[in-house]
Amino acid sequence: MSVAENLKTIRTRIAAAANPWGRAPEDISFIAVSKMQPPERIQDALSAGHRIFGENRVYDAKERWIPLKSQYPDIQLHLIGPLQTNKAKDAVALFDMIHTVDRENLVNELVKEMKKQNRFLPCLIQVNTGAEEQKSGIIPDDLVAFLKFCRAGGVDIQGLMCIPPVDDPPALHFALLQKLAKEQGLYHLSMGMSDDFEKAIPLGATFIRVGSAVFGQRPS
Ligand SMILES: *Cc1c(COP(=O)(O)O)cnc(C)c1O
Repeated sequence: MSVAENLKTIRTRIAAAANPWGRAPEDISFIAVSKMQPPERIQDALSAGHRIFGENRVYDAKERWIPLKSQYPDIQLHLIGPLQTNKAKDAVALFDMIHTVDRENLVNELVKEMKKQNRFLPCLIQVNTGAEEQKSGIIPDDLVAFLKFCRAGGVDIQGLMCIPPVDDPPALHFALLQKLAKEQGLYHLSMGMSDDFEKAIPLGATFIRVGSAVFGQRPS
């Protein structure tokens, strides 16, 4: 299957997952996760008209997307991987949304950079819904205090993001994220990947992050 065909298939699957729940497919942003994919596959997606992409590393994203963004000014770039504070400057300059705000010192650094660059990006808080040791994200119990901290700093938090534990049914985590967002009056939910986006859509996903189902297996 070509990248163009995959994009089309996924759009059809998004609509099929949304319609029974009375959701409009246009309310679900389909982020094509391009991390580590070869340039020709990215070009195929661009040629097919796709403009919303996700990357998980600032350095790789800069190399790839600075030239492409000048060629295609309507590209929307999402940071979906952990952000080191020393990369906050580059991240603020390059991305259109950050999905992985997850600690106070990062918030402080982002606030500083956003003011300096006069670029106030919408952001999401990553929630560690499975409370996994090795995973980044705010523990659900700490969300209210962290949200307050972000808002006090002036960060525009528009929603929540999660990556469910591999061994759990993802829908449990999507439902928890939806509940947390509702309680806090947050609109956006970034959840669902190649294997489970159809489960995230009934639970309110507004961003799905799909990599391998668009571009094929990532080269290792
Ligand atoms: C890589 C990645 C994805 C895409 O994963 P696929 O299984 O290839 O769809 C989604 N979200 C995050 C945070 C990722 O790092």
